[in-house]
Amino acid sequence: MNIIETSQIQKRYIMGAEVVEALKDITISIRKGEYVAFMGPSGSGKSTLMNIVGCLDTPTSGSYILNGQDVSRMGENELAEIRNKEIGFVFQTFNLLPRQTALENVALPLIYAGYSRADRIEKAMGALRGVGLENRAHHRPNELSGGQRQRVAVARALVNDPSILLADEPTGNLDTKTSYEIMDLFDQLYSKGNTIVMVTHEEDIAKYSHRIIRLRDGVIESDLVNDDVIKPV
Ligand code: ADP
Ligand code: ADP
Repeated sequence: MNIIETSQIQKRYIMGAEVVEALKDITISIRKGEYVAFMGPSGSGKSTLMNIVGCLDTPTSGSYILNGQDVSRMGENELAEIRNKEIGFVFQTFNLLPRQTALENVALPLIYAGYSRADRIEKAMGALRGVGLENRAHHRPNELSGGQRQRVAVARALVNDPSILLADEPTGNLDTKTSYEIMDLFDQLYSKGNTIVMVTHEEDIAKYSHRIIRLRDGVIESDLVNDDVIKPV
């Protein structure tokens, strides 16, 4: 089953008299359980495509079916609802609340989903266990290393069981060794059946994914199965 199905997506930005065609013709299908990297140089359209795939924005034309639902013409409220249900976001800058503990950060999406306090703690603890950080549950972000912070962010992204983990330059703020630890975690998540879409401009990071979609000037330059997936040690 396809989780992501885009057909001939275009995205235009109007800036005064200038029209920027950020995406010109993007047709992609991604099945449940795939681990895909979007690659491309700066300005190729990665962020624009990620914003559309993540339901933060809608295409100018073309369609986007996410988990069986046509989201391409949805308004902001409907889109926000789909986003909370279907997408777990991980960012380069972690985006954790500094005054909240790891556990409270991970439990946050569950407040909006309407869970009781006891259920939130249990589920958030389970998600922290899943990223190997149960013993850091009561630490605040400034008491954690960069890699641990990103693992907390991954736990928060997954706590609601989204259909896609969407990671925007997830290793962009991490040193090489820690980056590989996060790729090791992604590999484990992939093995458990999570669908992962990662945006990166780093070849060394994209190599961990199982399919690499390269963008250039708003079109797909190549879409290839990665035959040499690097296995984290
Ligand atoms: P990437 O993430 O690969 O660097 P982007 O999707 O950010 O690429 O940008 C693709 C093109 O669209 C670039 O030419 C960029 O300047 C332009 N662009 C992106 N966002 C906007 C926006 N909000 N308004 C106008 N132009 C934009
Ligand atoms: P990234 O580092 O992820 O590629 P960018 O620096 O390209 O991000 O863009 C950061 C944000 O600014 C994005 O949300 C993008 O839509 C917006 N943006 C990018 N280019 C432009 C532009 N030329 N005009 C207005 N907004 C832009």
